[in-house]
Amino acid sequence: MTLKVYNTAARSLQEFVPLREGEVRVYACGPTIYNHAHIGNFRTFLFFDLVHRHLEYSGYGVQFVMNLTDVDDKVIQAAHEAGSTIEEHTKPFGDTFLADCVSLGVWTVDSYPRATMHIEQMVEFIERLVDKGHAYSAEDGAVYFSIESFPEYGKLKGIDTSTLIAGARVEHDEYDKEDARDFALWKAATEEDEEVGAAWDSPWGRGRPGWHLECSVMSTMQLGDTLDMHLGGEDLVFPHHENEIAQSECATGHPFVRYWMHVKHLFVEGRKMSKSLGNFIRVRELLEEGYDPAAIRHLLISSHYRGELNFTRAGLKASGVAVQRLMDFEARLSQLETADDAEESALPGLAEKVVLDFRSTMDDDFNSAGALGVLFGFVTKVNAELDAKGRVSTSDRDLALGALRSMDTVLGLLEVAQASRVIDDDLSSWVERMIEERAQARASKDFARADEIREELSAKNIVLEDSAEGTRWKVVN
Ligand code: AMP
Ligand code: ZN
Repeated sequence: MTLKVYNTAARSLQEFVPLREGEVRVYACGPTIYNHAHIGNFRTFLFFDLVHRHLEYSGYGVQFVMNLTDVDDKVIQAAHEAGSTIEEHTKPFGDTFLADCVSLGVWTVDSYPRATMHIEQMVEFIERLVDKGHAYSAEDGAVYFSIESFPEYGKLKGIDTSTLIAGARVEHDEYDKEDARDFALWKAATEEDEEVGAAWDSPWGRGRPGWHLECSVMSTMQLGDTLDMHLGGEDLVFPHHENEIAQSECATGHPFVRYWMHVKHLFVEGRKMSKSLGNFIRVRELLEEGYDPAAIRHLLISSHYRGELNFTRAGLKASGVAVQRLMDFEARLSQLETADDAEESALPGLAEKVVLDFRSTMDDDFNSAGALGVLFGFVTKVNAELDAKGRVSTSDRDLALGALRSMDTVLGLLEVAQASRVIDDDLSSWVERMIEERAQARASKDFARADEIREELSAKNIVLEDSAEGTRWKVVN
């Protein structure tokens, strides 16, 4: 089986071949930690996670780096408005970002470099570009990348640089227009930058790095001159990634990235998410409203990453139902009373086929929507077989359960649902009530009711342990 990915640079699906056999080096543009991450960001971060998990599932050794942007125009402005330094301002957002990742089951990656920790390497990188004639310092104290010095500029986005005005400059980190202009690698410190602690010494005086430069430096520093995959949201194609290519290829003399992948932006209630529309939803808020993190995860991976995805609370509720169906299915299988003299069932065949189908669907450009279809089709078929057969052998049951768990190492839905249920207060008070009712039933010798309660709990993966001290309970996988 071969993995195919849609490479933004080639504008087509390509067979994935890493630089070194069996190893994949991935760099993903992480959050700018000036505020809490929103659900759009998490559509992108969950895609990163699917890539990470599927590559490992496919047997690759994966080195995965995701940066946290802790100094850029937005961070400085936000710190200034809050009357703090960038360090103080970004710390809590960095922490909650990582906590949200844990809630939604985003695997930890190998490294989370922060720009402010690598200023020295950034200065050295710029010096290399200046020495090679790709950058120049200007009278405003900034250092600019000369795009005229890199004829391939524009190749990622496919923009025409023939109308280029030599020496025209743009200082902002972000700009919408497909403007081929010299961009800042280093910016002279303003009073505001000094106030918020966003200024460092350099051969060009006090200043700070440009946002695009940060990613070029941290990615090549940690992963080498050529990366296998570079991921981000679709808004990053231009100018961010175009500029990263220019900087990196000019500094190292090697191709920067083999496969570029970009995630389409999330819509909310049919519209682009924006503060002015008031549909700007943070992951934190949904968790605080009590939504199941597994449902959020399900919804955000339920559409192919290059396809449209519209977030609605109704959709989130439907995802909650889907997750519950999966939980019920897992509970049914794991609680199943098996019989070793049971006649042959269709389970081994279904289990073998579903894993193959799942793999090939994910290999088709990380088609998570299709993979969920494969998974839920399996749930339906196995449930029907169990209804028809009544009893199956332990080994048949284990094969079905194994297939389910194998797919979940990539999708992470049961994993998140089970982890979140451990800490759910409502659930725990419900369990306590059930335990008490069971104790009363037993005291009045109503053992049928007592057993019923135990079963009801076990369907929710809750196991009771009776001891001299009373009844303990725990959530099991
Ligand atoms: P930022 O924190 O703005 O630097 O964004 C972090 C990541 O989230 C980047 O890869 C962005 O491209 C991505 N992103 C931002 N907005 C959205 C959105 N509405 N939908 C999907 N991804 C987004
Ligand atoms: Zn970046």
